[in-house]
Amino acid sequence: MKQQIDTKPVKGDALIIVDVQNDFLPGGSLAVPNGDEVVPALNRYVAAFESQRLPIYATRDWHPANHCSFKAQGGIWPPHCIAESNGAQFAPGLKRPADMVVISKATTSEKDAYSGFEGTDLAERLHKQGVHRLFIGGLATDYCVLNTVKDALKHKFTVLLLQDAIRAVNVQPDDGRKAEEEMQRLGAKPIRVEALAA
Ligand SMILES: [Zn+2]
Repeated sequence: MKQQIDTKPVKGDALIIVDVQNDFLPGGSLAVPNGDEVVPALNRYVAAFESQRLPIYATRDWHPANHCSFKAQGGIWPPHCIAESNGAQFAPGLKRPADMVVISKATTSEKDAYSGFEGTDLAERLHKQGVHRLFIGGLATDYCVLNTVKDALKHKFTVLLLQDAIRAVNVQPDDGRKAEEEMQRLGAKPIRVEALAA
């Protein structure tokens, strides 16, 4: 018999939406190519989690104007996701249930954080809620999704990677593909939204 993972969200699961913010969408200051395509896909996962009353988290970059990752401070990125700015807001089309928990990261000038776990209480909150499996999608595959998935695995969560709800920056053309391979090698299981209805 072929072994299958059960991909329907159940108690003990949480959805983690990584950095679906205006600056990472087409027209934003650090636009991820086709980044907007993750929104309708994520909305279907949100609907599934919401209908089961399961926890939904959304991480966001929430930087001061003089953040160390910005070129003017010697970093590699253009200014993006400055706290309170329009660019830092979640994509307007993203479904956000009232009880969705927002996790702000890299909120001080001297530290950057690609992972939603870095410098936040995300792991602690998840443990307190009895969560042991995470459905993770968002932006961008090769940076914040990659690092959030890696940290989730380090924290011993089972990780399902939402393969149809991620997009890559691709500074090098293969970065996204390599990041997906790395996440899978480390133990993340790729799924697509059809799996929710299976
Ligand atoms: Zn950033």
